[in-house]
Amino acid sequence: ATMPPLLSAIANAGRHGVLVKSAVVMERLGQVDRVAFDKTGTLTEGAPRVAEVRLTGALAEPDVLALAAAAELPSEHPLARAVVAAARERGVEVPRATEFSSAPGRGVRAVVGGREVTVGRPAAPSRPGRAPEPAGRDSEPTGRAPEPSVGEVREVRDLETSVRELEAAGRTAVVVTVDGSPVAVLGVSDRLRDGAAAAVTALARLSGTGPTLLTGDNDRAAHRVAADAGITDVRARLLPEDKVAAVREWERAGRRTLVVGDGVNDAPALAAAHTGIAMGRAGSDLALETADAVVVRDELATVPAVVALSRRARALVV
Ligand code: ADP
Ligand code: MG
Repeated sequence: ATMPPLLSAIANAGRHGVLVKSAVVMERLGQVDRVAFDKTGTLTEGAPRVAEVRLTGALAEPDVLALAAAAELPSEHPLARAVVAAARERGVEVPRATEFSSAPGRGVRAVVGGREVTVGRPAAPSRPGRAPEPAGRDSEPTGRAPEPSVGEVREVRDLETSVRELEAAGRTAVVVTVDGSPVAVLGVSDRLRDGAAAAVTALARLSGTGPTLLTGDNDRAAHRVAADAGITDVRARLLPEDKVAAVREWERAGRRTLVVGDGVNDAPALAAAHTGIAMGRAGSDLALETADAVVVRDELATVPAVVALSRRARALVV
């Protein structure tokens, strides 16, 4: 017997490095006419580096890195891995944290040696005078030049200025607080994945609309990555529920949305989308379980490839 077209397409997708979870998914992939990408870990490599450390002066750099890394150790977020790597590269011993908690799209909180430590995204800039409340976001792609892991160390008095300067440089600013007071801003950078721009072009052609970038990161970092990837529609500073709201809005307008993401913060949007694809290599377990298909080979070119495979298979299904 000849294999039914959708089953052949699944086998074919597997050869391209994409695990498509069912024939129904294989069929739906070809129907998408709207595409949205997450930024960190999806359009970018998801291997961010702490390029800059700015201290408020309350604690020395090794202490800041030790506390921040302790709080980030249990997190699987790419930014968390960058913070832990920065501490290790400095030869800083990472203490044990207790009472760990994480807020997807915001950051982490833990108790380290009796002190409450938070690491995460700066508070909205529109509220001057307030100490940033850390919550995590992602790291940022910048150019292609390799970044030193922990670069410049500077003392800052004005946290908000530092956040603004780092973000203007296309970095993701991550704020560290200890017992409620900010002690440092870390400037984190990430690189665009090879093939991101080509995948964006191919998906724009297949879906008839340019893809949208949905990210929890800051506007400048988001626009930097979007420009490099050839994306003009950018929505930044989104919480996980905002990503879902964007998807629902398109679906209500009759669009069939493909969401490509990797993080715990993307899982709700992957579930809400007509079709969700997770980046498999560094993707969170929740994203992999929630998505309809998983990119195992870790190349973005596989995404337009499976959409095209679905179109061809559907043309053969009577
Ligand atoms: P993206 O949508 O680009 O993948 P996320 O929604 O995962 O980004 O994160 C949004 C923002 O929340 C990050 O830019 C960072 O400021 C903050 N953040 C999230 N998780 C962490 C973490 N574990 N450590 C530090 N900051 C974090
Ligand atoms: Mg991500």
